[in-house]
Amino acid sequence: MSDYVKSLMAEVKAKHPAQPEFHQAVEEVAESLALVLERHPEYRTAKILERIIEPERVIIFRVPWVDDQGDVQINIGYRIEMNSAIGPYKGGLRFHPSVNIGILKFLAFEQVFKNSLTTLPMGGGKGGSDFDPKGKSDLKIMRFCQAFMSELFRHIGPNTDVPAGDIGVGGREIGYLFGQYKKLRNEFTGVLTGKGLNWGGSLIRPEATGYGAVYFASEMLGTRNETLEGKTCLVSGSGNVAQYTVEKILQLGGKVVTLSDSNGYIYDEEGIDEKKLQFVMELKNTRRGRIKEYTETYKKAVYTQLDSNMDHNPLWNHKAQCAFPSATQNEINGKDAQNLLKNGVYVVSEGANMPTTLDGVKLFIDNKILYGPGKAANAGGVAVSGLEMSQNSMRYPWTREEVDNRLHLIMKSIHKTCVDTADRFGTPGNYVNGANIGGFLKVADAMMDQGVV
Ligand code: NAP
Repeated sequence: MSDYVKSLMAEVKAKHPAQPEFHQAVEEVAESLALVLERHPEYRTAKILERIIEPERVIIFRVPWVDDQGDVQINIGYRIEMNSAIGPYKGGLRFHPSVNIGILKFLAFEQVFKNSLTTLPMGGGKGGSDFDPKGKSDLKIMRFCQAFMSELFRHIGPNTDVPAGDIGVGGREIGYLFGQYKKLRNEFTGVLTGKGLNWGGSLIRPEATGYGAVYFASEMLGTRNETLEGKTCLVSGSGNVAQYTVEKILQLGGKVVTLSDSNGYIYDEEGIDEKKLQFVMELKNTRRGRIKEYTETYKKAVYTQLDSNMDHNPLWNHKAQCAFPSATQNEINGKDAQNLLKNGVYVVSEGANMPTTLDGVKLFIDNKILYGPGKAANAGGVAVSGLEMSQNSMRYPWTREEVDNRLHLIMKSIHKTCVDTADRFGTPGNYVNGANIGGFLKVADAMMDQGVV
């Protein structure tokens, strides 16, 4: 670690204690940027990185609502408006009991670089609540979403801040949030992305993050003249990102053998085919059941309960060539990374945000595998959100093919930026440096142009 990064990290930790995920995200980026700041002292003089680390605005609010039993419930709502140098704040909303300010700051910080990489004019933001949607009735979800938007509406807008979905916020929640925004503002605008197709949504938005992570993996494999055809893939999660990751892997001839949720994972040696994927989509999106139920229908598959006392996650300990972590942050630790390498995995494309701990990332880089960090590999979701904003502004929807082609081109362009930038800064094949530096430069130059604001 350079002296600059050491003193920056000491300052960040002293100023923002008890935000370990935020420290982790900043440290990874700062390590890469040390290379840039050496070549461009003007960024250091203007304290660009120190400014990017501080959110432009943090909004915290009370979300009171009444449950089915008539009891009053209180949750905390957040919106981190991180950086608007290159466009309106843009980033998802997460509803999960683990949500706190440190987690949302790490996500918002990552989002700034990711959005810049997409080539589209979007700043970075993130928000959400400690509300747990799991097992709740549609009515409860609607009441909560309406209460949440009753405060958030005054802070967002199509030219100010455009939230989308994330963990626990899918099409159903975006619908309730949009309905309440429209009622309060009395206007129909593209204030949220991930909307339904009949009311301003974009084709391919639900698929975009998963498809994009697989396109990114294909691009990485292309640098070694290989494809996904015939490769065995480990996928974690079973939500939006995981489902469409599996769909695209199957379309490109790969084989998927795992899926998970927060209770455990299934291993299906025969492979999860299209029919089994449809079963999972119905299980997760309609019945809102648990992944364990997969083994009740597909009896040859094996379910393993997750044990938080274990020092590793057994999902990552199967023979495979590719891994697509698509559940949550820090789901691959150093031991898991060792297991992946030991089992022959040499492609990791991160659908989730920061799923790998810093020691795991180091192992991937040291072993020179094709490692696509989340801010590059999962940028397809926000990229198509950007395309949804364009379609809303034009009031003209594009076809499925048009959006998918644009998504594919954007993922190729992000891959090229990563490869070229890593080369230019003397670390060929290092996608972490490529993504961090590539994302940073555009935002940094915009901030230089706009003065100290
Ligand atoms: P989702 O539809 O809510 O699915 C999340 C999946 O991850 C579920 O299977 C969930 O299991 C599992 N999960 C959540 N927290 C977990 C934990 N602590 N331990 C183990 N499993 C956990 O959310 P998603 O949209 O697919 O998001 C997944 C990841 O992708 C997140 O890191 C998100 O930030 C990232 N991402 C999403 C998008 C997007 O467009 N949606 C874009 C870029 C990045 P349970 O059902 O048991 O909770």
